[in-house]
Amino acid sequence: MKPKIAFFDFTGCEGCQLDALNLDGDEILALLGAVDIVNFREVMTERKDNYDIAFIEGSITRQSEIARLQKIRERAKVLVALGACACIGGINCLKNHVPMEEALRAVYGEAAQYYDTIPARPADAVVPVDYYVRGCPPVHSELAKVIKALLVGRKPDIPNYPVCVECKMAGNICVFERGMYCLGPVTRAGCGAICVTSGRVCWGCRGLVDDPNLNSQKDILKKYGLTPDQIIEKFKIYDTCTEVIK
Ligand code: SF4
Ligand code: SF4
Ligand code: SF4
Repeated sequence: MKPKIAFFDFTGCEGCQLDALNLDGDEILALLGAVDIVNFREVMTERKDNYDIAFIEGSITRQSEIARLQKIRERAKVLVALGACACIGGINCLKNHVPMEEALRAVYGEAAQYYDTIPARPADAVVPVDYYVRGCPPVHSELAKVIKALLVGRKPDIPNYPVCVECKMAGNICVFERGMYCLGPVTRAGCGAICVTSGRVCWGCRGLVDDPNLNSQKDILKKYGLTPDQIIEKFKIYDTCTEVIK
């Protein structure tokens, strides 16, 4: 029996699911041969509720999404958070810094009364999550690695060291030396420091490493001339969701 896999979207841009479809051609063909996909709204109309592994994309931002996620958790043997929104709350958490009514009005204007919203939160703020595929969107190699590990019943091996390690291995000159700032020292590696290697900085989309040295990161940013408010702004983009919910 092939394991049955389902993909579900909550609040997000759906880029993670779309990106999953862009896995390398041979890889996706091999995976399609090894699993039954029973629920994937972006690619199929057929939907079944008997699945073994559920991938959750998007953060939880409405009351109705809580019950929906709980139901999926009840049905799935394994639940995987897919992408920054599901893993750490993601950019949706920016709205947590304003009153919910204000956020509703900003998006829906006079129609705000017809919608509900709650502070954005990651999937594991609602139900237990077994595994995480991090990033905005995740890198293909890690998504493929996690799926393959699940298929053979193994725990996926995900890095728990900072992006700086991969950045150094890529031979990049640190952006601090070029007058920019970066969240690489506290962000979990696994992306190959792709943003820095491509000439940008790390915004922390993969979330924090376990036990990050946040004070040291703040000291570095301060040393390079950022005010505490600017530092908070930087951390706000991806990493503060859980703290906001608590
Ligand atoms: S993690 Fe990024 S790509 Fe994925 S749904 Fe959220 S915003 Fe979109
Ligand atoms: S550019 Fe960023 S990720 Fe690279 S070494 Fe410097 S702080 Fe670390
Ligand atoms: S470098 Fe940072 S922002 Fe870019 S993909 Fe990696 S973790 Fe995300």
